[in-house]
Amino acid sequence: MKSYSEWQAQSETLTFHGQAYINGQFQPAVSGETFPSINPATEKLLTNVASCDAADVDLAVDCAREVFKSGAWSEMHPRQRKQIMQKWADLIELHKDEFALLDTLDMGKSISEMVNIDVPDAIDCFRWTAECIDKVYGEIAPTGEDTLAMISHEPVGVVGAITPWNYPLLMVSWKIAPALAAGNSVILKPSEKSPLSALRLAELASEAGMPDGVLNVVPGFGHTAGKALALHMDVNVLAFTGSTRVAGMLMEYAGQSNMKRVWLEAGGKSPNLVFADADIKKAAAGAASAIFANQGEVCIACSRLYVEKSIKEEFMAALVEEASRFQAGDPLDPKTTMGPMVDGSQLATVERYIRSAQDEGGHVVVGGVPEYKEGKGYFAKPTIVDNAHNGMTFVKEEIFGPVLAVCEFETEEEAIALANDSIYGLGAALWTQNLSRAHRVSRKLESGMVWVNTWGEGDTTVPFGGVKASGNGRDKSLHALEKYIDIKNVLIRL
Ligand code: NAD
Repeated sequence: MKSYSEWQAQSETLTFHGQAYINGQFQPAVSGETFPSINPATEKLLTNVASCDAADVDLAVDCAREVFKSGAWSEMHPRQRKQIMQKWADLIELHKDEFALLDTLDMGKSISEMVNIDVPDAIDCFRWTAECIDKVYGEIAPTGEDTLAMISHEPVGVVGAITPWNYPLLMVSWKIAPALAAGNSVILKPSEKSPLSALRLAELASEAGMPDGVLNVVPGFGHTAGKALALHMDVNVLAFTGSTRVAGMLMEYAGQSNMKRVWLEAGGKSPNLVFADADIKKAAAGAASAIFANQGEVCIACSRLYVEKSIKEEFMAALVEEASRFQAGDPLDPKTTMGPMVDGSQLATVERYIRSAQDEGGHVVVGGVPEYKEGKGYFAKPTIVDNAHNGMTFVKEEIFGPVLAVCEFETEEEAIALANDSIYGLGAALWTQNLSRAHRVSRKLESGMVWVNTWGEGDTTVPFGGVKASGNGRDKSLHALEKYIDIKNVLIRL
Protein backbone atom coordinates (compact mmCIF):
# COMPACT_ATOMS: atom_id res chain seq x y z
CA MET A 1 0.00 0.00 0.00
CA LYS A 2 1.26 3.48 -0.87
CA SER A 3 2.07 5.94 1.90
CA TYR A 4 -0.04 8.99 2.81
CA SER A 5 2.33 11.34 0.99
CA GLU A 6 2.38 9.12 -2.09
CA TRP A 7 -1.43 9.14 -2.29
CA GLN A 8 -1.44 12.91 -1.79
CA ALA A 9 1.10 13.36 -4.56
CA GLN A 10 -0.79 11.09 -6.96
CA SER A 11 -4.08 12.85 -6.22
CA GLU A 12 -2.51 16.11 -7.46
CA THR A 13 -1.77 14.53 -10.85
CA LEU A 14 -5.27 13.15 -11.54
CA THR A 15 -7.36 14.45 -14.40
CA PHE A 16 -11.13 14.21 -14.03
CA HIS A 17 -13.58 13.53 -16.84
CA GLY A 18 -16.84 15.28 -16.06
CA GLN A 19 -18.61 15.10 -19.41
CA ALA A 20 -21.28 12.59 -20.34
CA TYR A 21 -20.09 9.48 -22.18
CA ILE A 22 -22.40 8.75 -25.10
CA ASN A 23 -21.75 6.62 -28.16
CA GLY A 24 -18.10 6.11 -27.25
CA GLN A 25 -17.18 9.71 -26.60
CA PHE A 26 -17.18 12.40 -23.95
CA GLN A 27 -19.58 15.23 -24.64
CA PRO A 28 -21.15 18.11 -22.72
CA ALA A 29 -24.80 18.00 -21.70
CA VAL A 30 -27.10 19.15 -24.52
CA SER A 31 -28.13 22.10 -22.31
CA GLY A 32 -24.48 22.97 -21.61
CA GLU A 33 -25.31 22.92 -17.88
CA THR A 34 -22.91 21.53 -15.29
CA PHE A 35 -22.85 20.89 -11.55
CA PRO A 36 -19.83 20.86 -9.25
CA SER A 37 -18.19 17.73 -7.91
CA ILE A 38 -16.78 18.56 -4.48
CA ASN A 39 -14.21 16.71 -2.36
CA PRO A 40 -16.05 16.29 0.97
CA ALA A 41 -12.80 16.12 2.96
CA THR A 42 -11.65 19.56 1.79
CA GLU A 43 -14.84 21.10 0.34
CA LYS A 44 -12.78 22.00 -2.75
CA LEU A 45 -13.99 21.67 -6.32
CA LEU A 46 -12.71 18.61 -8.19
CA THR A 47 -14.38 19.36 -11.51
CA ASN A 48 -17.65 20.42 -13.09
CA VAL A 49 -19.83 17.60 -14.32
CA ALA A 50 -22.32 17.55 -17.20
CA SER A 51 -25.84 18.03 -15.89
CA CYS A 52 -27.73 15.69 -18.20
CA ASP A 53 -31.49 15.75 -18.61
CA ALA A 54 -34.13 14.21 -20.83
CA ALA A 55 -32.42 15.41 -24.04
CA ASP A 56 -29.18 13.58 -23.18
CA VAL A 57 -31.07 10.50 -22.06
CA ASP A 58 -32.94 10.43 -25.39
CA LEU A 59 -29.64 10.60 -27.24
CA ALA A 60 -28.10 7.84 -25.16
CA VAL A 61 -31.13 5.55 -25.47
CA ASP A 62 -31.20 6.05 -29.26
CA CYS A 63 -27.52 5.07 -29.53
CA ALA A 64 -27.98 2.15 -27.17
CA ARG A 65 -30.99 0.85 -29.13
CA GLU A 66 -29.27 1.27 -32.46
CA VAL A 67 -26.19 -0.67 -31.45
CA PHE A 68 -28.37 -3.32 -29.80
CA LYS A 69 -30.29 -3.82 -33.03
CA SER A 70 -27.05 -3.93 -35.04
CA GLY A 71 -25.96 -7.00 -33.07
CA ALA A 72 -22.44 -5.55 -32.70
CA TRP A 73 -22.51 -6.55 -29.01
CA SER A 74 -25.78 -8.43 -28.52
CA GLU A 75 -24.92 -10.97 -31.22
CA MET A 76 -21.15 -10.94 -30.86
CA HIS A 77 -19.71 -14.43 -30.37
CA PRO A 78 -19.92 -15.10 -26.61
CA ARG A 79 -16.21 -15.87 -26.39
CA GLN A 80 -15.34 -12.51 -27.95
CA ARG A 81 -17.70 -10.66 -25.63
CA LYS A 82 -16.06 -12.43 -22.73
CA GLN A 83 -12.59 -11.45 -23.93
CA ILE A 84 -13.57 -7.77 -24.15
CA MET A 85 -14.98 -7.81 -20.63
CA GLN A 86 -11.88 -9.56 -19.34
CA LYS A 87 -9.65 -7.01 -21.04
CA TRP A 88 -11.78 -4.30 -19.43
CA ALA A 89 -11.17 -5.89 -16.02
CA ASP A 90 -7.43 -5.98 -16.78
CA LEU A 91 -7.51 -2.26 -17.61
CA ILE A 92 -9.32 -1.46 -14.36
CA GLU A 93 -6.62 -3.41 -12.54
CA LEU A 94 -3.92 -1.53 -14.43
CA HIS A 95 -5.48 1.73 -13.22
CA LYS A 96 -6.49 0.45 -9.80
CA ASP A 97 -4.84 3.25 -7.82
CA GLU A 98 -6.52 5.84 -10.00
CA PHE A 99 -9.92 4.25 -9.31
CA ALA A 100 -9.15 4.12 -5.59
CA LEU A 101 -8.35 7.82 -5.64
CA LEU A 102 -11.34 8.81 -7.76
CA ASP A 103 -13.88 7.47 -5.26
CA THR A 104 -11.90 8.62 -2.22
CA LEU A 105 -11.72 12.17 -3.55
CA ASP A 106 -15.27 12.18 -4.89
CA MET A 107 -17.15 10.82 -1.87
CA GLY A 108 -14.72 10.66 1.08
CA LYS A 109 -14.33 6.90 1.50
CA SER A 110 -11.00 5.93 3.07
CA ILE A 111 -8.28 4.98 0.59
CA SER A 112 -7.59 1.76 2.51
CA GLU A 113 -11.21 0.60 2.01
CA MET A 114 -10.92 1.43 -1.68
CA VAL A 115 -7.67 -0.50 -2.06
CA ASN A 116 -8.73 -3.50 0.03
CA ILE A 117 -12.43 -3.80 -0.79
CA ASP A 118 -14.06 -1.68 -3.49
CA VAL A 119 -11.49 -1.89 -6.29
CA PRO A 120 -10.57 -5.60 -6.00
CA ASP A 121 -14.25 -6.55 -5.57
CA ALA A 122 -15.20 -4.53 -8.66
CA ILE A 123 -12.47 -6.20 -10.73
CA ASP A 124 -13.59 -9.60 -9.46
CA CYS A 125 -17.18 -8.77 -10.39
CA PHE A 126 -16.19 -8.01 -14.00
CA ARG A 127 -13.94 -11.09 -14.31
CA TRP A 128 -16.40 -13.52 -12.73
CA THR A 129 -19.37 -12.19 -14.69
CA ALA A 130 -17.38 -12.26 -17.95
CA GLU A 131 -16.63 -15.94 -17.31
CA CYS A 132 -20.36 -16.66 -17.11
CA ILE A 133 -20.91 -15.49 -20.69
CA ASP A 134 -19.91 -18.79 -22.27
CA LYS A 135 -20.86 -21.04 -19.36
CA VAL A 136 -24.56 -20.46 -18.83
CA TYR A 137 -26.61 -22.78 -21.07
CA GLY A 138 -30.20 -22.78 -22.25
CA GLU A 139 -32.58 -25.70 -21.66
CA ILE A 140 -34.64 -28.27 -23.52
CA ALA A 141 -38.05 -28.78 -21.90
CA PRO A 142 -39.24 -32.39 -21.38
CA THR A 143 -42.25 -32.05 -23.72
CA GLY A 144 -42.21 -35.55 -25.24
CA GLU A 145 -40.96 -37.25 -28.41
CA ASP A 146 -43.03 -35.36 -30.98
CA THR A 147 -41.99 -31.83 -30.05
CA LEU A 148 -38.79 -29.96 -29.24
CA ALA A 149 -39.13 -26.99 -26.87
CA MET A 150 -35.96 -24.94 -26.57
CA ILE A 151 -35.67 -22.38 -23.80
CA SER A 152 -33.09 -19.71 -24.43
CA HIS A 153 -31.82 -16.63 -22.60
CA GLU A 154 -32.25 -13.48 -24.66
CA PRO A 155 -30.85 -10.07 -23.77
CA VAL A 156 -33.69 -7.70 -22.84
CA GLY A 157 -32.40 -4.83 -25.02
CA VAL A 158 -31.74 -1.48 -23.35
CA VAL A 159 -31.05 -1.41 -19.61
CA GLY A 160 -31.16 1.75 -17.50
CA ALA A 161 -29.03 1.61 -14.35
CA ILE A 162 -29.29 4.19 -11.56
CA THR A 163 -26.73 4.00 -8.76
CA PRO A 164 -25.96 5.62 -5.38
CA TRP A 165 -22.82 7.30 -4.06
CA ASN A 166 -21.77 5.16 -1.11
CA TYR A 167 -19.77 2.54 -3.07
CA PRO A 168 -19.57 4.37 -6.41
CA LEU A 169 -17.38 1.99 -8.42
CA LEU A 170 -18.66 -1.20 -6.80
CA MET A 171 -22.40 -0.47 -7.07
CA VAL A 172 -21.93 0.48 -10.73
CA SER A 173 -20.00 -2.76 -11.35
CA TRP A 174 -22.68 -4.93 -9.74
CA LYS A 175 -25.25 -3.43 -12.15
CA ILE A 176 -23.46 -3.03 -15.45
CA ALA A 177 -21.28 -6.16 -15.48
CA PRO A 178 -24.19 -8.66 -15.61
CA ALA A 179 -26.33 -6.38 -17.81
CA LEU A 180 -23.54 -6.12 -20.38
CA ALA A 181 -22.48 -9.75 -20.07
CA ALA A 182 -26.05 -10.74 -21.02
CA GLY A 183 -25.63 -8.80 -24.30
CA ASN A 184 -27.60 -5.67 -23.47
CA SER A 185 -26.85 -2.02 -24.10
CA VAL A 186 -26.72 0.10 -20.95
CA ILE A 187 -27.38 3.70 -19.96
CA LEU A 188 -25.90 4.37 -16.55
CA LYS A 189 -26.96 7.29 -14.35
CA PRO A 190 -24.42 7.46 -11.51
CA SER A 191 -25.10 9.49 -8.37
CA GLU A 192 -24.48 13.22 -8.73
CA LYS A 193 -22.41 12.95 -5.54
CA SER A 194 -19.86 10.53 -7.04
CA PRO A 195 -19.99 10.30 -10.85
CA LEU A 196 -16.27 10.35 -11.67
CA SER A 197 -15.25 6.68 -11.47
CA ALA A 198 -18.24 5.64 -13.62
CA LEU A 199 -17.14 7.99 -16.40
CA ARG A 200 -13.59 6.64 -16.34
CA LEU A 201 -14.95 3.09 -16.35
CA ALA A 202 -16.88 3.80 -19.55
CA GLU A 203 -13.80 5.22 -21.23
CA LEU A 204 -11.88 2.04 -20.41
CA ALA A 205 -14.71 -0.11 -21.81
CA SER A 206 -14.12 1.51 -25.21
CA GLU A 207 -10.38 0.97 -24.84
CA ALA A 208 -11.08 -2.71 -24.18
CA GLY A 209 -12.99 -2.96 -27.46
CA MET A 210 -16.62 -2.55 -26.43
CA PRO A 211 -18.54 -1.14 -29.44
CA ASP A 212 -19.63 2.50 -29.22
CA GLY A 213 -23.07 3.06 -27.73
CA VAL A 214 -23.12 -0.18 -25.72
CA LEU A 215 -22.26 1.59 -22.46
CA ASN A 216 -23.35 5.21 -22.02
CA VAL A 217 -23.04 7.31 -18.87
CA VAL A 218 -25.35 10.28 -18.26
CA PRO A 219 -24.53 12.04 -15.00
CA GLY A 220 -27.31 14.29 -13.79
CA PHE A 221 -28.19 16.39 -10.79
CA GLY A 222 -31.10 15.31 -8.59
CA HIS A 223 -33.86 13.52 -10.44
CA THR A 224 -33.35 15.10 -13.89
CA ALA A 225 -31.55 12.34 -15.83
CA GLY A 226 -32.74 9.49 -13.59
CA LYS A 227 -36.42 10.33 -13.93
CA ALA A 228 -36.11 10.70 -17.71
CA LEU A 229 -34.46 7.30 -17.89
CA ALA A 230 -37.10 5.70 -15.70
CA LEU A 231 -39.94 7.21 -17.76
CA HIS A 232 -38.36 6.42 -21.13
CA MET A 233 -40.55 4.35 -23.45
CA ASP A 234 -37.59 2.55 -25.03
CA VAL A 235 -35.83 1.29 -21.86
CA ASN A 236 -36.67 -2.34 -21.18
CA VAL A 237 -35.28 -2.85 -17.70
CA LEU A 238 -34.41 -0.45 -14.92
CA ALA A 239 -31.89 -1.55 -12.29
CA PHE A 240 -31.64 0.70 -9.26
CA THR A 241 -29.65 0.95 -6.06
CA GLY A 242 -30.56 3.78 -3.71
CA SER A 243 -33.13 4.89 -1.18
CA THR A 244 -36.50 3.27 -0.59
CA ARG A 245 -38.16 6.64 -1.27
CA VAL A 246 -36.77 6.88 -4.81
CA ALA A 247 -37.27 3.13 -5.38
CA GLY A 248 -41.02 3.66 -4.89
CA MET A 249 -41.02 6.50 -7.42
CA LEU A 250 -39.33 4.30 -10.01
CA MET A 251 -42.14 1.75 -9.74
CA GLU A 252 -44.60 4.56 -10.43
CA TYR A 253 -42.57 5.81 -13.41
CA ALA A 254 -42.51 2.29 -14.85
CA GLY A 255 -46.30 2.08 -14.53
CA GLN A 256 -46.72 5.51 -16.11
CA SER A 257 -44.53 4.61 -19.10
CA ASN A 258 -43.92 1.21 -20.69
CA MET A 259 -44.17 -1.17 -17.69
CA LYS A 260 -40.42 -1.70 -17.82
CA ARG A 261 -39.17 -4.30 -15.37
CA VAL A 262 -37.78 -2.58 -12.26
CA TRP A 263 -35.15 -4.14 -10.01
CA LEU A 264 -34.64 -2.38 -6.71
CA GLU A 265 -31.83 -2.53 -4.17
CA ALA A 266 -33.09 -0.06 -1.60
CA GLY A 267 -32.52 1.11 1.97
CA GLY A 268 -31.95 -0.79 5.19
CA LYS A 269 -31.96 -0.62 8.96
CA SER A 270 -30.22 -3.87 9.71
CA PRO A 271 -30.40 -5.51 13.14
CA ASN A 272 -27.46 -7.10 14.95
CA LEU A 273 -28.35 -9.65 17.67
CA VAL A 274 -25.77 -10.47 20.34
CA PHE A 275 -26.72 -13.46 22.49
CA ALA A 276 -25.24 -14.16 25.91
CA ASP A 277 -23.38 -17.19 24.53
CA ALA A 278 -21.51 -15.11 21.90
CA ASP A 279 -17.75 -14.59 21.79
CA ILE A 280 -18.02 -11.10 23.26
CA LYS A 281 -14.78 -9.68 21.92
CA LYS A 282 -15.48 -10.81 18.36
CA ALA A 283 -19.11 -9.67 18.56
CA ALA A 284 -18.06 -6.23 19.81
CA ALA A 285 -15.48 -5.86 17.03
CA GLY A 286 -18.10 -6.96 14.49
CA ALA A 287 -20.73 -4.59 15.88
CA ALA A 288 -18.34 -1.63 15.64
CA SER A 289 -17.32 -2.43 12.05
CA ALA A 290 -20.96 -3.00 11.12
CA ILE A 291 -21.84 0.62 11.89
CA PHE A 292 -18.63 2.61 11.49
CA ALA A 293 -17.11 1.10 8.32
CA ASN A 294 -17.44 3.55 5.43
CA GLN A 295 -18.70 6.18 7.95
CA GLY A 296 -21.88 4.16 8.38
CA GLU A 297 -22.81 5.03 4.79
CA VAL A 298 -23.54 1.37 4.12
CA CYS A 299 -26.93 -0.05 3.14
CA ILE A 300 -26.29 -3.16 5.26
CA ALA A 301 -24.95 -1.16 8.24
CA CYS A 302 -26.20 -2.83 11.42
CA SER A 303 -27.52 0.37 12.98
CA ARG A 304 -29.83 -1.46 15.43
CA LEU A 305 -27.92 -3.44 18.03
CA TYR A 306 -29.85 -5.80 20.34
CA VAL A 307 -27.83 -7.19 23.24
CA GLU A 308 -28.99 -9.88 25.68
CA LYS A 309 -29.59 -8.18 29.02
CA SER A 310 -27.40 -10.54 31.10
CA ILE A 311 -24.19 -9.54 29.21
CA LYS A 312 -25.06 -5.94 28.39
CA GLU A 313 -22.58 -4.30 30.76
CA GLU A 314 -19.64 -6.48 29.76
CA PHE A 315 -20.52 -6.15 26.08
CA MET A 316 -20.82 -2.36 26.20
CA ALA A 317 -17.34 -2.03 27.68
CA ALA A 318 -15.93 -4.14 24.83
CA LEU A 319 -17.95 -2.20 22.24
CA VAL A 320 -16.73 1.19 23.45
CA GLU A 321 -13.14 -0.05 23.20
CA GLU A 322 -13.70 -1.36 19.66
CA ALA A 323 -15.35 1.93 18.65
CA SER A 324 -12.13 3.75 19.49
CA ARG A 325 -10.54 2.06 16.42
CA PHE A 326 -12.68 4.37 14.29
CA GLN A 327 -11.53 7.97 14.10
CA ALA A 328 -12.46 10.43 11.39
CA GLY A 329 -9.50 11.73 9.41
CA ASP A 330 -8.13 12.51 5.95
CA PRO A 331 -9.33 9.62 3.77
CA LEU A 332 -6.09 9.79 1.77
CA ASP A 333 -4.16 8.61 4.83
CA PRO A 334 -4.02 4.78 4.75
CA LYS A 335 -4.32 4.77 8.54
CA THR A 336 -7.67 6.60 8.47
CA THR A 337 -10.59 4.37 9.45
CA MET A 338 -13.39 6.90 8.81
CA GLY A 339 -13.57 9.63 6.18
CA PRO A 340 -16.00 12.56 6.00
CA MET A 341 -19.70 12.23 5.24
CA VAL A 342 -20.40 12.59 1.52
CA ASP A 343 -21.65 16.17 1.83
CA GLY A 344 -23.07 18.82 4.13
CA SER A 345 -26.63 17.58 3.83
CA GLN A 346 -25.65 14.05 4.92
CA LEU A 347 -23.75 15.54 7.87
CA ALA A 348 -26.83 17.57 8.81
CA THR A 349 -28.93 14.37 8.65
CA VAL A 350 -26.54 12.68 11.10
CA GLU A 351 -26.73 15.65 13.45
CA ARG A 352 -30.53 15.75 13.26
CA TYR A 353 -30.87 12.06 14.21
CA ILE A 354 -28.41 12.31 17.11
CA ARG A 355 -30.40 15.24 18.50
CA SER A 356 -33.66 13.36 18.01
CA ALA A 357 -32.17 10.31 19.83
CA GLN A 358 -31.25 12.54 22.76
CA ASP A 359 -34.65 14.24 22.76
CA GLU A 360 -36.36 10.84 22.90
CA GLY A 361 -34.32 9.64 25.90
CA GLY A 362 -31.22 8.09 24.29
CA HIS A 363 -27.93 8.23 26.19
CA VAL A 364 -24.87 9.07 24.07
CA VAL A 365 -21.98 6.92 25.34
CA VAL A 366 -19.54 7.58 22.50
CA GLY A 367 -19.33 10.51 20.04
CA GLY A 368 -22.21 12.95 19.72
CA VAL A 369 -23.26 15.77 17.42
CA PRO A 370 -20.63 16.71 14.81
CA GLU A 371 -18.53 19.85 15.29
CA TYR A 372 -18.47 21.22 11.77
CA LYS A 373 -15.86 23.83 10.80
CA GLU A 374 -16.49 25.55 7.49
CA GLY A 375 -14.01 24.55 4.79
CA LYS A 376 -12.56 21.68 6.84
CA GLY A 377 -14.73 18.83 5.55
CA TYR A 378 -17.96 17.16 6.61
CA PHE A 379 -16.68 14.99 9.44
CA ALA A 380 -19.00 13.16 11.84
CA LYS A 381 -18.04 11.29 15.01
CA PRO A 382 -18.57 7.58 15.53
CA THR A 383 -21.59 7.67 17.86
CA ILE A 384 -23.16 5.07 20.15
CA VAL A 385 -26.54 5.78 21.76
CA ASP A 386 -27.66 3.52 24.62
CA ASN A 387 -31.15 3.24 26.19
CA ALA A 388 -32.70 2.92 22.76
CA HIS A 389 -35.90 1.09 21.82
CA ASN A 390 -37.86 0.38 18.68
CA GLY A 391 -40.30 3.23 19.27
CA MET A 392 -37.63 5.90 18.78
CA THR A 393 -37.34 7.71 15.45
CA PHE A 394 -33.60 7.12 15.07
CA VAL A 395 -34.14 3.37 15.60
CA LYS A 396 -36.88 3.18 12.96
CA GLU A 397 -35.46 5.33 10.17
CA GLU A 398 -32.35 4.82 8.06
CA ILE A 399 -29.72 7.44 8.98
CA PHE A 400 -26.92 6.31 6.67
CA GLY A 401 -24.26 7.56 9.05
CA PRO A 402 -22.10 6.37 11.99
CA VAL A 403 -24.87 6.30 14.62
CA LEU A 404 -25.55 3.08 16.53
CA ALA A 405 -28.71 2.46 18.58
CA VAL A 406 -28.23 0.01 21.46
CA CYS A 407 -31.31 -1.87 22.69
CA GLU A 408 -31.63 -4.96 24.89
CA PHE A 409 -33.64 -8.18 24.97
CA GLU A 410 -34.19 -11.08 27.34
CA THR A 411 -35.31 -14.05 25.21
CA GLU A 412 -34.60 -15.43 21.75
CA GLU A 413 -38.22 -14.90 20.69
CA GLU A 414 -38.07 -11.28 21.80
CA ALA A 415 -34.81 -10.74 19.90
CA ILE A 416 -36.35 -12.10 16.68
CA ALA A 417 -39.51 -10.03 17.11
CA LEU A 418 -37.51 -6.82 17.71
CA ALA A 419 -35.23 -7.51 14.73
CA ASN A 420 -38.21 -8.10 12.41
CA ASP A 421 -40.06 -5.02 13.65
CA SER A 422 -38.92 -2.84 10.71
CA ILE A 423 -40.16 -1.93 7.27
CA TYR A 424 -36.73 -2.97 5.96
CA GLY A 425 -35.27 -6.44 5.38
CA LEU A 426 -31.83 -6.09 3.85
CA GLY A 427 -29.19 -7.63 6.14
CA ALA A 428 -29.04 -9.01 9.68
CA ALA A 429 -26.25 -10.32 11.87
CA LEU A 430 -26.30 -12.58 14.90
CA TRP A 431 -23.63 -13.68 17.31
CA THR A 432 -23.92 -16.98 19.18
CA GLN A 433 -21.82 -20.09 19.74
CA ASN A 434 -24.92 -22.27 19.77
CA LEU A 435 -25.24 -23.87 16.32
CA SER A 436 -28.92 -24.71 16.69
CA ARG A 437 -29.75 -21.17 17.74
CA ALA A 438 -27.77 -19.82 14.78
CA HIS A 439 -29.92 -21.87 12.37
CA ARG A 440 -33.17 -21.27 14.22
CA VAL A 441 -32.77 -17.49 14.35
CA SER A 442 -31.40 -17.17 10.80
CA ARG A 443 -34.51 -18.90 9.46
CA LYS A 444 -36.84 -16.55 11.30
CA LEU A 445 -35.15 -13.26 10.40
CA GLU A 446 -37.01 -11.35 7.68
CA SER A 447 -33.92 -10.44 5.72
CA GLY A 448 -32.33 -11.07 2.34
CA MET A 449 -28.96 -11.74 3.95
CA VAL A 450 -27.96 -13.07 7.38
CA TRP A 451 -24.45 -13.14 8.79
CA VAL A 452 -23.62 -15.48 11.67
CA ASN A 453 -20.59 -14.56 13.79
CA THR A 454 -19.49 -12.09 11.14
CA TRP A 455 -20.89 -9.09 9.31
CA GLY A 456 -20.85 -7.85 5.74
CA GLU A 457 -18.75 -10.64 4.27
CA GLY A 458 -19.64 -11.61 0.76
CA ASP A 459 -18.27 -12.92 -2.46
CA THR A 460 -19.09 -12.43 -6.12
CA THR A 461 -20.63 -15.92 -6.02
CA VAL A 462 -23.09 -14.91 -3.28
CA PRO A 463 -26.29 -12.94 -4.03
CA PHE A 464 -26.82 -9.52 -2.47
CA GLY A 465 -30.20 -7.93 -1.85
CA GLY A 466 -33.18 -7.58 0.43
CA VAL A 467 -36.84 -8.18 1.13
CA LYS A 468 -39.70 -5.91 2.31
CA ALA A 469 -38.95 -2.20 1.68
CA SER A 470 -35.30 -3.07 0.98
CA GLY A 471 -36.20 -4.16 -2.52
CA ASN A 472 -36.25 -7.14 -4.84
CA GLY A 473 -33.91 -9.02 -7.14
CA ARG A 474 -30.29 -9.70 -6.36
CA ASP A 475 -26.96 -8.26 -7.39
CA LYS A 476 -23.93 -10.59 -7.78
CA SER A 477 -23.94 -14.36 -8.40
CA LEU A 478 -25.76 -16.04 -11.32
CA HIS A 479 -29.00 -14.59 -9.96
CA ALA A 480 -27.86 -11.14 -11.08
CA LEU A 481 -27.83 -12.31 -14.71
CA GLU A 482 -31.48 -13.36 -14.42
CA LYS A 483 -32.47 -9.71 -14.11
CA TYR A 484 -31.13 -8.81 -17.52
CA ILE A 485 -32.48 -11.64 -19.69
CA ASP A 486 -35.77 -12.63 -21.18
CA ILE A 487 -36.67 -16.29 -21.24
CA LYS A 488 -37.81 -17.34 -24.72
CA ASN A 489 -39.13 -20.67 -25.79
CA VAL A 490 -39.34 -22.05 -29.29
CA LEU A 491 -41.51 -25.14 -29.68
CA ILE A 492 -41.12 -27.23 -32.84
CA ARG A 493 -43.50 -30.01 -33.83
CA LEU A 494 -41.29 -32.73 -35.19
P1 NAD B 1 -31.03 8.12 -3.61
O1 NAD B 1 -32.23 7.26 -3.72
O2 NAD B 1 -31.20 9.51 -3.14
O3 NAD B 1 -30.32 8.24 -5.04
C1 NAD B 1 -29.97 7.08 -5.76
C2 NAD B 1 -29.89 7.44 -7.24
O4 NAD B 1 -31.19 7.80 -7.69
C3 NAD B 1 -28.99 8.62 -7.53
O5 NAD B 1 -28.28 8.38 -8.73
C4 NAD B 1 -29.98 9.77 -7.70
O6 NAD B 1 -29.52 10.82 -8.50
C5 NAD B 1 -31.14 9.06 -8.35
N1 NAD B 1 -32.43 9.71 -8.19
C6 NAD B 1 -32.83 10.56 -7.21
N2 NAD B 1 -34.12 10.92 -7.40
C7 NAD B 1 -34.54 10.28 -8.52
C8 NAD B 1 -35.78 10.23 -9.22
N3 NAD B 1 -36.85 10.90 -8.81
N4 NAD B 1 -35.85 9.46 -10.33
C9 NAD B 1 -34.79 8.73 -10.75
N5 NAD B 1 -33.58 8.75 -10.12
C10 NAD B 1 -33.47 9.51 -9.02
O7 NAD B 1 -29.98 7.30 -2.73
P2 NAD B 1 -28.50 7.74 -2.32
O8 NAD B 1 -28.60 8.82 -1.30
O9 NAD B 1 -27.69 7.96 -3.54
O10 NAD B 1 -27.95 6.40 -1.66
C11 NAD B 1 -28.24 6.03 -0.36
C12 NAD B 1 -29.32 4.98 -0.33
O11 NAD B 1 -28.94 3.86 -1.13
C13 NAD B 1 -29.54 4.42 1.06
O12 NAD B 1 -30.92 4.33 1.30
C14 NAD B 1 -28.90 3.05 1.00
O13 NAD B 1 -29.41 2.11 1.93
C15 NAD B 1 -29.18 2.66 -0.41
N6 NAD B 1 -28.27 1.59 -0.86
C16 NAD B 1 -28.80 0.33 -1.02
C17 NAD B 1 -27.97 -0.71 -1.41
C18 NAD B 1 -28.53 -2.11 -1.60
O14 NAD B 1 -27.83 -2.94 -2.17
N7 NAD B 1 -29.74 -2.40 -1.15
C19 NAD B 1 -26.61 -0.47 -1.64
C20 NAD B 1 -26.12 0.82 -1.47
C21 NAD B 1 -26.97 1.85 -1.09
